[in-house]
Amino acid sequence: MDKPAICGGIPVRDTKIYYGHQYIDEDDIRAVAEVLRSNEITCGPKIKELEDKLCRITGAKYAVACSSADKGPVTMKGCSVGCIGCQLCKKNCPEGAVNVADFNAEIDYEKCSGCGTCMEKCPRKSIVEH
Ligand code: SF4
Ligand code: SF4
Repeated sequence: MDKPAICGGIPVRDTKIYYGHQYIDEDDIRAVAEVLRSNEITCGPKIKELEDKLCRITGAKYAVACSSADKGPVTMKGCSVGCIGCQLCKKNCPEGAVNVADFNAEIDYEKCSGCGTCMEKCPRKSIVEH
């Protein structure tokens, strides 16, 4: 793509995606149905697939996909690898690249050197290498 369609470039789609009007195609429906029919709805292989794709797209070495935002004790009841917001990754990161908000760790890939310390220190194995 040379330039965005709004600036005269070629649109990447034939139909508009309206604000407040979601776009869901048959591929999306098939993908959701595939997960719903599987044995692992929450911590299944799709999580790793997503993390792998995020690493590929961003060039990051590490990715963690977690969205519970529940407090630690609640997360621990329902998920064996969910972030509990203990901040050990943040405290031990030599680059100051980790922030923990709403019981989820976020890595700033602009700052991250890929040393792996956060992954080693995390008691929950929430951070994985790709
Ligand atoms: S890999 Fe190293 S630099 Fe990157 S976020 Fe983890 S501890 Fe920080
Ligand atoms: S060390 Fe693990 S559990 Fe603790 S805040 Fe970081 S990612 Fe979450």
